Amino acid sequence: MRKLEQLDFDNTFARLPDIFHSRLHPTPLPEPYLVSFNTNAAPLIGLDSSETQRADFAEYFIGNRLLPGCEPLAMLYAGHQFGHYVPQLGDGRAVLLGEIKNGAGEYWDVQLKGAGRTPYSRNGDGRAVLRSSIREYLCSEAMHGLGIPTTRALCIVGSDHRVYRETVETAAVVTRIAPSHVRFGSFEVFFYRGQIQPLAMLADYVIARHFPHLIDAPDKYPRFFNEVVTRTATLMAQWQAVGFSHGVMNTDNMSILGLTFDYGPFGFMENYDPGYICNHSDPAGRYAYNQQPQIGLWNLACLAQALTPIISKEDAETALKNYAPTYAERYTALMGQKLGLTQTSKDDASLINTLLDMMHTSHADYTNLFRGLSHFKSAPGEKNAALRDQFIDRTAFDTWSESYRARLQREQGSDEERKIRMDKVNPKYILRNHLAQTAIDKAEQGRDFSEVDRLLALLQNPFNEQPEMEDYAAIPPEWARHITVSCSS
Ligand code: AMP
Ligand code: MG
Repeated sequence: MRKLEQLDFDNTFARLPDIFHSRLHPTPLPEPYLVSFNTNAAPLIGLDSSETQRADFAEYFIGNRLLPGCEPLAMLYAGHQFGHYVPQLGDGRAVLLGEIKNGAGEYWDVQLKGAGRTPYSRNGDGRAVLRSSIREYLCSEAMHGLGIPTTRALCIVGSDHRVYRETVETAAVVTRIAPSHVRFGSFEVFFYRGQIQPLAMLADYVIARHFPHLIDAPDKYPRFFNEVVTRTATLMAQWQAVGFSHGVMNTDNMSILGLTFDYGPFGFMENYDPGYICNHSDPAGRYAYNQQPQIGLWNLACLAQALTPIISKEDAETALKNYAPTYAERYTALMGQKLGLTQTSKDDASLINTLLDMMHTSHADYTNLFRGLSHFKSAPGEKNAALRDQFIDRTAFDTWSESYRARLQREQGSDEERKIRMDKVNPKYILRNHLAQTAIDKAEQGRDFSEVDRLLALLQNPFNEQPEMEDYAAIPPEWARHITVSCSS
């Protein structure tokens, strides 16, 4: 593991022509302090975690000092926001320091989010607040803990510099790390400007860096798009299965690698409600929980359109047609696993949907209901009273449990073995809004960051029973009903 001065930068994106980005330095912030450091992510960039002991550590990760070898820039992109094309977005408050090569030869983008104004800031102040930085930091690591592809987070550095949102807040910078920050909107910007050569150059760059098995394929572009379709469909299935709502699925927030990307007003569903809207700024529910799979496809269609100069319409349509079956297959498999099934069967969809319908009517907590389902006893005559009590319509539960019991009889293994399997896929702990809010309140009020660290450690192991943390699995307290999250961050 290396010291800060020895990090191995190799900035491939910075070597692309100037049309792709704007070179600039982060804007300094006064008196930075380390809020939290994620030792689990440090090895990804080959960083020795003991470097956090240095007095100047925070200066580097708020952008006041530059790491040797970095070539800071803001990336250009556009995107469809809430269904409307916005011709120019770009990193308005994020600065990509560059890519660091780790000991395993992997490249990781290192980006400071909240590092000041850029040529793409439009009317924004280039800043991120401590509140939203804590949410991104915790949720990206929680998603990783859940086994869902995502950008990662290395640390948060704060400053008492004031930032004006609905109220006065303070600034913070999250160091986001990811294999790539290229988005669907990175392609759209060139398509809509009619700049075909940069469009093809970006596709070649992404293929060379992230889809190297396609470099020499004569049909590399359609195959690349097809892989993006598969990854996106898979990601949507993973979000749905865990009850995650992103909140702002604009095409500028869609990763070309199928990572969960750009955490804003996201939410984990608590009471099961297919129409759940996590983002207070989305009253029409364009990005409601149950819309996400079809929005994934809509966004892919935007990307397909942007790629039409390099792939045929027929190839684009063929790839897009793979989306629905891929999504359905992945989603059913994941939900089957949540029920403890090892094989798939055509009647599983109805078993799952009936359960979800009952959960909806009973306002069951999505996470806790599935976690508790691992206690289901399959012996004939078992009433499964603790589970049964969570449903309003007990007769419906009894009917459903008969079908579940019959389905389990077609599986191998004991109830105990099934419980072990189910506990590995049904998390005990998710980032509930009130947990994040408690950590935020402590951080904002008393500069006490212990709760951020506690949640980080908890959510990195969401499937393990952590008896001393039992309260963190509870449904939200009364005060938490009033928490709203919006696009303001
Ligand atoms: P987001 O909703 O965070 O994905 O951001 C959408 C666009 O707005 C991106 O181009 C961001 O860089 C930009 N943006 C968001 N917040 C700010 C801010 N405070 N200052 C400048 N640009 C911002
Ligand atoms: Mg964004």
